[in-house]
Amino acid sequence: TGKFFVGGNWKCNGTKDSIAKLVGDLNGAKLEDDVEIIVAPPFVYISQVKDTLTAPIQISAQNSWSGKGGAFTGEISAEQLKDTGCEWVILGHSERRHVIGETNEFIGKKAAYALSQNLKVIACVGEKLEEREAGKTFNVCFEQLKAFADAVPSWDNIVIAYEPVWAIGTGKVATPLQAQEVHAVIRGWMGKNVSSEAAKAVRIIYGGSVNGANCEELAKKEDIDGFLVGGASLKGPEFATICNSVT
Ligand code: 13P
Repeated sequence: TGKFFVGGNWKCNGTKDSIAKLVGDLNGAKLEDDVEIIVAPPFVYISQVKDTLTAPIQISAQNSWSGKGGAFTGEISAEQLKDTGCEWVILGHSERRHVIGETNEFIGKKAAYALSQNLKVIACVGEKLEEREAGKTFNVCFEQLKAFADAVPSWDNIVIAYEPVWAIGTGKVATPLQAQEVHAVIRGWMGKNVSSEAAKAVRIIYGGSVNGANCEELAKKEDIDGFLVGGASLKGPEFATICNSVT
């Protein structure tokens, strides 16, 4: 696998002022060299972040349209994201799946289009609490992975984020064992359904209530190659701690 990968998903948070402060904190933080870091601001603040961020951090969008721009009110195209300095896009986040109602097929289409425009993709998968309790965790992840696999020509520019929905924004982090179990199963699925090379190379990052206090234990697990961080990524020093948990 490549470098340890940490993403800060700011979701629908922030103002010009709070983002200026956060970027200032990130610019002043000491970050390890051997970690790849991205932050995903809301669309309207991407240019502000691009213009002010001097830390070695790339910029990601939180979503993108599924094709070329045009008459699609309220959407943002992959071309526009590239134009404003994004290198990554988060797709299939559980909030877009379950709050906004995006389907596996739509998400696959977005991933394929983003990759075609040279945006790299953070492909999110993960089960809801009732699915975990019903023993469906692996099958839910497989279905979501298959939708990506059916749509994309290559996994070279994809990072997989395993984010169990019950752990997102709840303070209820998956245990290192729970996360490692699913990550290993996802890697196994990749080996069987994509290629052994892709399975070895792909980074599988964990998201769901990661913070400065629990990141180190999680980072020690063999198949946990980084994190996708929500709430704790809004605090510069704590996000830096998580970035530096690389082992
Ligand atoms: P929290 O870290 O706030 O639980 O959010 C995780 C997440 O959804 C990152 O994409």
